[in-house]
Amino acid sequence: LLSKRLRRVAYYIHDDIKVIADIGSDHAYLPCYVCLQNPDLFAIAGEVNEGPYLAAKKQVEKYELENQIDVRLGDGLSVLDKGEADCITIAGMGGTLIAKILADGKDKLPHVKRLVLQPNIDAHAIREFAVEEKYEIIAEEIIDDEGYIYEILVLEPTINMVNYSEKEMYLGPHLIENKNEVFYEKWQHVLNKKYKIIDQMKNAQNINYEKIDYFSKQVQWIEEEIE
Ligand code: SAM
Repeated sequence: LLSKRLRRVAYYIHDDIKVIADIGSDHAYLPCYVCLQNPDLFAIAGEVNEGPYLAAKKQVEKYELENQIDVRLGDGLSVLDKGEADCITIAGMGGTLIAKILADGKDKLPHVKRLVLQPNIDAHAIREFAVEEKYEIIAEEIIDDEGYIYEILVLEPTINMVNYSEKEMYLGPHLIENKNEVFYEKWQHVLNKKYKIIDQMKNAQNINYEKIDYFSKQVQWIEEEIE
């Protein structure tokens, strides 16, 4: 059975999507799951490392999905031809790496209708990519899977101005709107950590006022949303 985390990613691969590219696919669990569910779907599983690439190939053979899933070895979006995929999924990495993979492969993005991204940390880096590259964040989720907290962000290109406040960039515009237990849990934890760090910074020999201000602003945003 696919992890809850990847099932939530799969949820956003809608019926009108014909070809998905899962970048950093590892065992290709996600493409195998969605292709078994939908025989009309075609998938590309991209991997930069040989071990996970071979693991993906094996998994695809195990389910006899060779006609539906193409496993490719290469860095980021370089494994794709222009216009080949209508949806890209990237899961299980840091937000900064996900944003870098997308920015480095920008020339492959114009025909892509939807990006489903699951950063383990630093979701704000993906929101920054969205604003810079004119994507609207159409959905966000924060979930707990076996004691770990994950965020999922769904981006679609837009011709409208994309504008989020600094607080929304930090906490997530949709997550602020629909707060769940996991949201409170995550940000309470971050808040406690920030209090400690600010205390330490105030007692340091060389006080970095700029950094204290920056952290204090984040503390204020979190307090406004969870207290
Ligand atoms: N997507 C799977 C998931 O969510 O369970 C696997 C996540 S795994 C932690 C990250 C995978 O991304 C690794 O297998 C790694 O080899 C691959 N990876 C990292 N950087 C990559 C890049 N630039 N291009 C393609 N794959 C990459």
